[in-house]
Amino acid sequence: MPEQAPCPLFINGEWIISSATETSPVYNPSDGTQISATPMCGQEEASKAVEAAAAAFPELANTPATDRVQVMFRFKELLEKHFGELSQIVTRENGKTLDESRGSVRRGIEVVEFACGAPSFLMGESLENIARNIDCDTIRQPLGVSVSISPFNFPIMVPMWTFPIALVCGNTFVLKPSEKVPLSCIRLVELLQEAGLPPGVLNLIHGGKEAVDTLLTHPDVKTVSFVGSTPIARYIYETATQNGKRVQSSGGAKNYLIVLPDAEPDSTIDAIMGSAYGCAGERCMAGSALVCIDQAGEEFMPLLSNAARHLRVGPTDRDPDAQMGPVVTKAHLDNIHQHIQNGISEGADLLVDGREVRVEDTPEGFYLGPTIFDHVTPQMSIAQEEIFGPVLSTMRTADLDTAIEYCNNSGFGNAAVLFTQSGAAARKFRHSVNAGMVGINVGVPAPMAFFPFSGWNNSFFGDLHVQGHEGVSFFTRQKVTISRWIETKKRFF
Ligand code: NAD
Repeated sequence: MPEQAPCPLFINGEWIISSATETSPVYNPSDGTQISATPMCGQEEASKAVEAAAAAFPELANTPATDRVQVMFRFKELLEKHFGELSQIVTRENGKTLDESRGSVRRGIEVVEFACGAPSFLMGESLENIARNIDCDTIRQPLGVSVSISPFNFPIMVPMWTFPIALVCGNTFVLKPSEKVPLSCIRLVELLQEAGLPPGVLNLIHGGKEAVDTLLTHPDVKTVSFVGSTPIARYIYETATQNGKRVQSSGGAKNYLIVLPDAEPDSTIDAIMGSAYGCAGERCMAGSALVCIDQAGEEFMPLLSNAARHLRVGPTDRDPDAQMGPVVTKAHLDNIHQHIQNGISEGADLLVDGREVRVEDTPEGFYLGPTIFDHVTPQMSIAQEEIFGPVLSTMRTADLDTAIEYCNNSGFGNAAVLFTQSGAAARKFRHSVNAGMVGINVGVPAPMAFFPFSGWNNSFFGDLHVQGHEGVSFFTRQKVTISRWIETKKRFF
């Protein structure tokens, strides 16, 4: 695709140029240049995509699961073949390091591998003789048109949380990626087309609120999967459920990392660094609040500050040694700066100031170095609000109970992590913590494709999460049949 041409839409098996007059810029965050433009589709184009998906549904629903998965097997092969290229696209439009992009594409591929098991996981249950001569069984059937609205931070992985499973379950699909990172999904859809996906089965549109609102209210849409910030996640859940859709809506997070004094130092520092600064902190699983218990603060904070000061920040699209890349846009960078300013105004100690980082060769990139606040109190905004950048807010307490209380009061509930050598402390933490994904000496406890991605509280609105068997339940509905067969007097067998 030529640079800065508006991104195409994919509707009913054809690539088309949007008639939208408004576009949104797409940047290479490493150097700040504009690399493309996202058309902000309106109601008409979003409706066309839904109608194409609705028209393709009856045929897909009638296709045996064993045939549906053949497309996924071919898709998986193409993803492996183009693995490097896909990772580079993610790095180019999102800014994460190539290693991080590779990891995220791999996570997406794992969902495809899980989806290839559809003939097994779609099997129903049955019980003979629930009463004399009466049998009961369940089958799973697709619902119709599914839509997915995704965020900027994982341009390939998050869209792939949903559509591979939805499609093998027999649903057709409309995908609406983030307007900030549309290029990765375009390549994914090209590969799906090459894998032999029939026209209309998956459609791609671009845009923002108008396109999304059309999807949320269209009568042919049956399920809505959303991933993004909490205010929008709540809005999506409320609007789509009011319109009769089944909804899974993942929101933002404030993930707590808690360190007991007995934690093993080297691996703990590595894990905290990876959690707080991996993907430049733009991860819904990023550790952004650190609680050091008792002596842990004295021991760990100097080690952590030293590691943070030495992390190499740079242009991930051209510097293979860069350990942390830029954030996604200048507007997002400005927003993170505002959070840092709020922390200073509230009286926290700015131990490491990432605003001092300079990247000489690409000064126009959207860079911020690792930032650490110490002596933060739980009431401060930097302890409560999602910053979504490389900023770590450190609190200190005397005991584990208080640390768990801080974590449980956050209102969010994605990840919570404890570093310790004590099995008893780990067990207590797992039991008491009010979050859906728990790490014990693991900084980013993100589950693999066959487990649910299990956010709680303000990090998730809905009942069935993405991935694994919850994903299968979300994209199917069960039909229970009760049959009575009585041998007649007239015997034919
Ligand atoms: P965002 O909420 O700004 O946007 C997400 C999607 O919603 C985009 O596709 C966007 O176009 C659309 N959108 C934006 N405003 C809208 C509106 N008013 N009405 C309808 N649609 C709208 O999120 P983002 O900045 O792209 O992504 C970062 C957020 O995503 C963070 O809060 C992060 O924690 C969250 N996230 C959560 C998870 C999770 O599993 N819980 C995973 C990844 C990211």
